[in-house]
Amino acid sequence: MIRDVKHCPPIESDRPLATSTQPLVVALAGNPNSGKTTLFNRLTGARQHVGNYPGVTVERKEGACHRGGVPLKIVDLPGTYSLTAFSVEEKVARNFIVEDRPDVVVDIIDATNLERNLYLAVQLLELGAPLVLAFNLCDATQQSGIQFDLTKLSASFGAPIVQTSGKTGDGLDVLLGAVVERARHRQEWSGKTVNYGPVVEREIASLGAVLAAAGAGQEALRWLAIKLLENDPDLIARYTHPPVVEALAQSRARIERETGEEASSLIAGARYAFIAAACQDTVQAPAAARRTMSDRIDAVATHRFFGLPLFLGVMYLVFQLTFTASAAPMDWIEGCFGWLGGVVGAWWPEGAESPLKSLLTDGLIAGVGGVLVFMPNILCLFLAIAILEDSGYMARAAF
Ligand code: GDP
Ligand code: MG
Repeated sequence: MIRDVKHCPPIESDRPLATSTQPLVVALAGNPNSGKTTLFNRLTGARQHVGNYPGVTVERKEGACHRGGVPLKIVDLPGTYSLTAFSVEEKVARNFIVEDRPDVVVDIIDATNLERNLYLAVQLLELGAPLVLAFNLCDATQQSGIQFDLTKLSASFGAPIVQTSGKTGDGLDVLLGAVVERARHRQEWSGKTVNYGPVVEREIASLGAVLAAAGAGQEALRWLAIKLLENDPDLIARYTHPPVVEALAQSRARIERETGEEASSLIAGARYAFIAAACQDTVQAPAAARRTMSDRIDAVATHRFFGLPLFLGVMYLVFQLTFTASAAPMDWIEGCFGWLGGVVGAWWPEGAESPLKSLLTDGLIAGVGGVLVFMPNILCLFLAIAILEDSGYMARAAF
């Protein structure tokens, strides 16, 4: 009935930190385009293993590296903005952290979009993940003159922070050092969690009590209650015990009645307020840097009204490009195979019919030609998709 959400246990001090058969497991989490894959590649080099998470077509990448004699296994989690299981990526990333219990979770943060990226960090803290924050793209923040008070920020989040650059490789050694230290001194860092205000906190407590009575594990109660209030479909499907379902419905109704807002939007609002407060005096950005290029693109690409027409326009462009750009090579391939069919057909006297001739010209040559003629189409389409993916437009459109 109730499958418990387990939290990461502390490492016992008498056990060696890691061995070659049991390396420290380090999961890389982060928003799409925060530089996870770039850092992963830099950390693990060619020692990579690519597979899929069981049952889904989400790519799972693993690699190995060492830091000060400690073997590390690095896992590149799918990029997510949140840890509520609304998408398969979010579910896969969360399940890995909850069920596989990595020794350390590194949240790779695009430091040029700090507040938006910290939303995931807050949720990782809430989950009780042993966290290290990597403020990535530090080359870009330095260039635009953005400065962080890392000591204060680190205290606000209750997690070590390291500045890194996937572009230059700066800070990677420090990051690995922080990862090993984080695993070694697990108990010393207590992740800070958000206070959701009197009404929501009261309901979290009362839902927690119902969950405890229904047999949910003590240390995950708060997290579970929050996720249920956020309408997490995965957990709602798992916690179908009638008292829990009823308590959840009542809690939601009370929150809406007393505050006039839905629980999920109150929760999101409180997280952003927590982040804004933490960043208030600790992030110094010159006026020009505050609105980054990425922000400007986001403003258009994820706009409430223009976003969808823009998306349809982009798809129409891709469609047009695929067909116009590939028209010439298609004609060319068609011509080549027509010519080849003619040459081979000419081996037989005019008008002669033979099964071998038919096999070669109508079967083999026409058949292979019929398939290859679509190659330019497919190449153009995949090129366009790759450009959209790598430019970050796909992530924005999905958002
Ligand atoms: P992922 O979606 O999190 O895996 O992000 P990627 O590793 O694919 O990186 C997204 C884009 O950001 C790529 O174009 C990278 O070259 C670029 N990138 C990654 N790290 C850095 C960095 O530290 N500095 C700069 N300037 N660009 C970076
Ligand atoms: Mg990636």
